[in-house]
Amino acid sequence: MTGTNEYCIEARDISVQFPVKSPFHLNRKRGEKKTKLLTAVNHVSLSIRTGETVSLVGESGCGKTTFGRALLRLVNTAPESQILFHGKDISRLDEKHLHPYRAKMQMIFQDPMTSLDPRKTIGAIIAEPLIALHLASGTEAEKKVREAMDMVGLKPDHYDRYPHEFSGGQRQRVGIARALVAHPEFIVCDEPISALDVSIQAQVINILEDLQNRYGYTYLFISHDLSMVRHISDEVGVMYLGSLVEFAPVKELYENMLHPYTQSLMSAIPEPDPIANRNAKRIILTGEVPSPLNPPKGCPFWTRCRQCMEKCAEIRPELRNVGNGHLVACHLIHSDR
Ligand code: SF4
Repeated sequence: MTGTNEYCIEARDISVQFPVKSPFHLNRKRGEKKTKLLTAVNHVSLSIRTGETVSLVGESGCGKTTFGRALLRLVNTAPESQILFHGKDISRLDEKHLHPYRAKMQMIFQDPMTSLDPRKTIGAIIAEPLIALHLASGTEAEKKVREAMDMVGLKPDHYDRYPHEFSGGQRQRVGIARALVAHPEFIVCDEPISALDVSIQAQVINILEDLQNRYGYTYLFISHDLSMVRHISDEVGVMYLGSLVEFAPVKELYENMLHPYTQSLMSAIPEPDPIANRNAKRIILTGEVPSPLNPPKGCPFWTRCRQCMEKCAEIRPELRNVGNGHLVACHLIHSDR
């Protein structure tokens, strides 16, 4: 957390839809499957200051990863969506003009086992961005790879070894080194610790924090682990069914959560003290998350919200600022405004 007041990334009104062939919607005349649009991300805006960490939390399938991929221009966004990198709008650049930005924006993946090619050596895996982006080859690439290995605490003799020879934590170091080798400024960390043993998770988080302190990286950290998010973040966004429902500086959010969905997520965080943990009030959500193929009208959360009011099923609450950089989308909070 070495932030400045400048924004590295500004995401404005990001929406992502995917066409899905539905087996239940046949075109009667031709007997073909009809295509429906799945809204994975629905008008999400947020900005990340240079050198800071913004985390996104929410259940699986809520659009966190798709949002992260959209910022890296790995998926198409709606025409009105804008992605600014240090103030430059990169959302409509073609591949040629996007090329200088590709190296500056990288991703660390969830499962280091499946994201590393088992047939390649560690050196070849870490070199992938250099080769793909034509940034270096031969001895120059090897020098950069060895520098990246050193940055994450891998030993020089690991260069010629293969992923299966490494533990989960070491494999994630390889994944981090691959993200760093092209000297990025912005890194999307997509559940970087969720596939790791608890004992290893803190090591990986320490590496990410140390690198941020030393090199000023800007992170979008996507996670289910709300305790870790509290530790690592400057600001936190809560997503539900493709929408951002609450966003605030980390201390403000954890001490003054306002959205009923955030309150239910936070109530599930285990207390370190076993007695407090046993007595803690949990807010158990009932029902399934609605399908993003058929999202409800009004508030996206109304089908599961214990405080739902009549207008919630009709009118979508806007994400509004309640002060202290705290944004929330809920009619309960804005009913008198
Ligand atoms: Fe619940 Fe209504 Fe607030 Fe949505 S707007 S979270 S349904 S109270």
